[in-house]
Amino acid sequence: MTDAVRRHVAALAPEALPAYVYDLAALRAHAAAVRAALPARVELYYAAKANPEAPVLAALRAAVDGYEVSSGGELAHVRQAVPDAPLAFGGPGKTPAEIVAALDAGVHRWHVESEQELYRLAAALTDRPDAAVDVLLRVNLPVGAGALDTVALAMGGRPTPFGLDPDRAEACARLLTDPLGPFGPLLPRLRLRGVHAHLASGLAAAEQLAVAGQIVEWSARTARRHGFALAEVNVGGGMAVDYADPRARFDWTAFGEGLAKLLERHPGPTLRIEPGRALTAYCGWYATEVLDVKQSHGEDFAVVRGGTHHLRTPATRGHDQPFAVLPVDAWPHPWPRPAVTTGRATLAGQLCTPKDVLAHAAPAARGLRTADRVLFAMAGAYAWNISHHEFLMHPRPGFHYLGEDG
Ligand SMILES: *Cc1c(COP(=O)(O)O)cnc(C)c1O
Repeated sequence: MTDAVRRHVAALAPEALPAYVYDLAALRAHAAAVRAALPARVELYYAAKANPEAPVLAALRAAVDGYEVSSGGELAHVRQAVPDAPLAFGGPGKTPAEIVAALDAGVHRWHVESEQELYRLAAALTDRPDAAVDVLLRVNLPVGAGALDTVALAMGGRPTPFGLDPDRAEACARLLTDPLGPFGPLLPRLRLRGVHAHLASGLAAAEQLAVAGQIVEWSARTARRHGFALAEVNVGGGMAVDYADPRARFDWTAFGEGLAKLLERHPGPTLRIEPGRALTAYCGWYATEVLDVKQSHGEDFAVVRGGTHHLRTPATRGHDQPFAVLPVDAWPHPWPRPAVTTGRATLAGQLCTPKDVLAHAAPAARGLRTADRVLFAMAGAYAWNISHHEFLMHPRPGFHYLGEDG
């Protein structure tokens, strides 16, 4: 917990809890360190779906080259939050209206997810003689990080709604390189620049590098075969975040060094990465207080204000959210103060479902008392924005952005 977060939460009234508290100064420092670890010929995009809060997007602006958006909603929102930033537009199931909106917005890169999408895009371009677009083919490539000492790890190549199978990507490459084909007259405005792949999440640096190497090799071979200049390869996001160890960080230094070696072998293309979680997970805290502590058949339960309808991350991923306790010594009531008796407690929320658990039998809850404050860490990505806010109609949390004017 940073001092700024601790002081801020200690000063909040109980009615101001729960609250999401973001340390934007810490976020700026982290993103700058990530950027510094990467070679110059690697572009850093932020996957906005991890956390699209406008102050978060703005705090990242100095360190990132652009933002990856995956819907018309994200596109409009990110445009407004960081108006000058380049955008890459991905996502399966782009609607005709989203396609037109993205063309009008002049997105920097287009990640094509299917052949039909390519036809729709071409049709939209036909209707808009002034528009032009640079595309990357998103490929669902079977690759492995199996040369590593861990168990062989296979990514991509499984049935998913995302991207193109390699043979379909080649079919798209043929369409985009054939001046006599159906897109021929459009090709000056419908430009094939390279390949995009986002194949897995939760990979450590060595695994990420093995996967990135195979994506670049495949892209280079495909470009040679179809006779187009490979200008860019986006090797995706998915850098590991370890919720069991809040101090651990993805090894950006090793990753940057490995990418530099990969670029030496491939002097042509620019590389791009688009992490989400590994950039913003650490800057957010979900702060709350203990409403009650009770013993149930030999176990302690601490019920906190709020719950998984605000912070769904532990329920969706099946982990225990790490937390720190901020003791509150004042107890103004005449009745006894309920406290944890067994040395560990399950931290549950206010929802009437047994799934509303933020941390199971946590030893960090030793001595926890009613009215103590609890700060759940690593709540800066896939947290508020993936949660089911309306369930049970509890009030929404507050949102606090510390260090906003960097
Ligand atoms: C979700 C997503 C990302 C970001 O993934 P993280 O695991 O948050 O790093 C990047 N690219 C695409 C296409 C995605 O769908």
